[in-house]
Amino acid sequence: YTKLRLILGDQLNASHSWYRQKHEDTVYLIAELRQETDYVKHHVQKVSAFFAAMENFAAALNSAGHHVIHLTLDDTCHYETLCDLIAYYCTQFSVDVFEYQRPDEYRVLAQLRAFSSQQIYQCNEYDTEHFMLPFDEIESMFVKGKHHTMEYFYRSMRKRYNLLMDQNKPIGGKWNFDSENRQSFKDNDLNEIPTPVCFENSVEAILVRLQHHQVRTFGQSQTQLLWPVNRQQALTLLSFFCEHLLPRFGQYQDAMTCQSQHAWSLYHSRLSFALNVKMLSPIQVVQAAIKAYETFPDKISLPQVEGFTRQIVGWREFIRAIYWRNMPEYEQFNALNAQQALPQYFWHGKTKMRCMNEVITQSLDYAYAHHIQRLMITGNFCLLAGIEPSQVDEWYLGIYIDALQWVELPNTRGMSQHADHGIIATKPYAGSANYINKMSDYCKHCYYDKKLKYGEKACPFNSLYWHFLHRHQNAFSQNQRMSMIYRNWSNQADDEKNKVLEQAQRYLDNLESL
Ligand code: FAD
Ligand code: SF4
Repeated sequence: YTKLRLILGDQLNASHSWYRQKHEDTVYLIAELRQETDYVKHHVQKVSAFFAAMENFAAALNSAGHHVIHLTLDDTCHYETLCDLIAYYCTQFSVDVFEYQRPDEYRVLAQLRAFSSQQIYQCNEYDTEHFMLPFDEIESMFVKGKHHTMEYFYRSMRKRYNLLMDQNKPIGGKWNFDSENRQSFKDNDLNEIPTPVCFENSVEAILVRLQHHQVRTFGQSQTQLLWPVNRQQALTLLSFFCEHLLPRFGQYQDAMTCQSQHAWSLYHSRLSFALNVKMLSPIQVVQAAIKAYETFPDKISLPQVEGFTRQIVGWREFIRAIYWRNMPEYEQFNALNAQQALPQYFWHGKTKMRCMNEVITQSLDYAYAHHIQRLMITGNFCLLAGIEPSQVDEWYLGIYIDALQWVELPNTRGMSQHADHGIIATKPYAGSANYINKMSDYCKHCYYDKKLKYGEKACPFNSLYWHFLHRHQNAFSQNQRMSMIYRNWSNQADDEKNKVLEQAQRYLDNLESL
C-alpha cells in the first residue's frame, strides 16, 4: 500500500467520497483504542455500540472491495496513543501518504494535526462530508465569545436548504410552532405511546474484550444491544420514527412520565447515536421526515415536522458551530463559579427525589435520556446545586450513547449549566418543582412535596431554585427576561425568604442525603 486512510469511530459515513472508488494501493485503518475508552469513564452500552458499529462498518467496506484493517483492543493495547498506532502502520507499509477526515472533537483534531506536522510523508485532511454548515463558514458566521441566537441561524439554514419553504417564506406562515407543541401527557395518552424499536445485537465478544482489558465502564450491560449498529438498522429506526413517532413528536417533545413502560423512549427518535457516528446524515434524516409529512398530511401536522427540523437543522448544527468557534477556552468556562461535588446518586440513581431517580436510573439502564430530562431534571439540579461543571461534563460525556464532546459540551456547560457567560443562552434554564410538575407526573409519586419550599418534605428544587436566583442576583437581576421572577422574590417577606434560603443551605450542605 502507498496510502493509509484512518477512519475514526464516529466517521462511519458510507457515502463519503473516499469510498466512491476502490484503490488497490489504499488501506483503511479502523481501530478500537484505549485512548478512546479511557478519556472518561463510559457507559458500557456506549462503548459496545461504538465498537460494534465500527466492526460492521469495516466489514461493509471490506465486502465492497476496499482493503480494511480492523483492529480490536487485543491488537492495539500495546500502543499508547492513536498516533503511535498510525506511525507503526505507516512505517510497516512504507506509505507515501497518510489521510484522515477532520475529527469532530478538538482533542483528536489537535492530536492528528500535531502528528501530521511531524511526518516526512504527505498528510492530507478531508472533510467528513456530514454536516450541513460547511466547517469553513463557521469562523465568518460566528464570533468567538459572543452570544448568537439559534433562531436566526435556523432560519438561514431552512432557506439555504429550501426546507419547509414556500418561495422565500416558511410554510404555514411562521418559523416556529413551539406554542402549539410541548404539551404534557394526560392519563389516556400514556396507553398510546408506541413500543420502541429495539435491535438485538450480540455484543458478547466485545463485553468479554472490555473485561479482559479491564476497561472501566458503568451502567447496565446488555449482551443484546438495542441500539442500531449498522446502516440498515439506522434506516429502520428512521422509518419507524417517521411513521409512528413523528405524528406526536413536537406535541410531547418536553413531556415526561414515570407511568409507562415506554417512559424512556416516548416520541423521541433516538437517532442521535446513528447521526453522531454518521451512519445517517442530517439532511437525509430531515428530508425523510419532511417527505413523511408531505405524504401523510392528515397524520403528521406541520408543528410536528417543523419541531423536528429545528432540532436537526437548527440546534444540532448551531451547537457544533459554537463548539468550534469557542474551543479550547469553552471547556474551562465556569461563569457561575460552581464548586460543589457531583453527588454519588448520579452513579446509582438512589435518591428520594423521584424525578432524579427516574432519569438517572433510566440513563443507567439505556445510556439514554431525552432532551428535557437532561436539561430540566439532572442538568437543572446541577445548575441549582452549583455542581462544578467539569464533573457535570464528565458524567454527561460518559453516560449517554450519543455523547461526543462537540455536542455534549455546549449543551451541558453552556445550555444547561450557564457556565459559558451566556454564549448559548441569554438566561439560565432553571426551574422549580412547578415546571417539573407541569411537564411530568414525577411529583405525584415522590417522597418530597412539590408545593413546599421549606420543612422536612420540602422539594429540594424549590428552595434551591430561589437560593440560585438569590446568590446570582448580580448576574441575572438586570436581565429583562428574569425581572418578573426577581420581583416575585423581592416581594416575599424577609422571614419567608430566610426560611427558604436556610432550607436550601441545609440541602446544599447535605446534597448526598437527598
Ligand atoms: P430527538 O428528541 O428525537 O431529537 C432529534 C434530533 O435532534 C436528535 O437526534 C439530535 O440529533 C438533534 N438535537 C436535538 N436537540 C439537540 C441539541 N440541543 N443539540 C444537538 N442536537 C440536538 N445530544 C447529543 O447528540 N450528544 C450529547 O452528548 C448531548 N448532550 C446533551 C447534554 C445536555 C445537558 C442536554 C440538555 C442536551 C444534550 N444533547 C446531546 C441534546 C439532546 O438532548 C439529544 O440530542 C437528544 O436527547 C438525543 O435523543 P433523540 O435522538 O431521541 O432526540
Ligand atoms: Fe422532583 Fe421535587 Fe417533584 Fe419530587 S417533588 S419529583 S424532587 S420536582
